[in-house]
Amino acid sequence: MKVLNLQCGHEHTFEGWFASEDEYTSQLARGLLSCPLCGDTRIRKLLSAPRLNLRAGREVEAMPDRTSAAGGGRVELGMPAAGSALQASLLQAMRAVLANTEDVGERFADQARAMHHGDIEQRAIRGRTSPEVALELIEEGVDVLPLPALPALKETLQ
Ligand SMILES: [Zn+2]
Repeated sequence: MKVLNLQCGHEHTFEGWFASEDEYTSQLARGLLSCPLCGDTRIRKLLSAPRLNLRAGREVEAMPDRTSAAGGGRVELGMPAAGSALQASLLQAMRAVLANTEDVGERFADQARAMHHGDIEQRAIRGRTSPEVALELIEEGVDVLPLPALPALKETLQ
């Protein structure tokens, strides 16, 4: 799955979730992409590579209960199985991630690294780690992706 940073003609920036880069190109060509803020369909991809959403500071303020135990900011990460038929919409994608991943919680970084190095069998997992560790994982070439804050999402799904 690809998380792309997109921008509309009015310079609103937002994230788009796609099964692949081709899916983004295809949806763009068919005029299916529009800005969630203003509906503008003049969407372009920002040049910056898909990056972790590091607004963890704000998230910590909003949801202190999720982080008090660990004593630091935590970001939700997922590692979907390769080839998952994930659809473009965020909620569909998130449902798939939730349905097809094992929640390993705070062990995410260790498990993701172990899989990356072939120490344990590959499987789809999700969990939490600090923004710093998440960046380390990405720099190490571990194929992780950020997930939206799950408590808010669960409400949406119900
Ligand atoms: Zn816009």
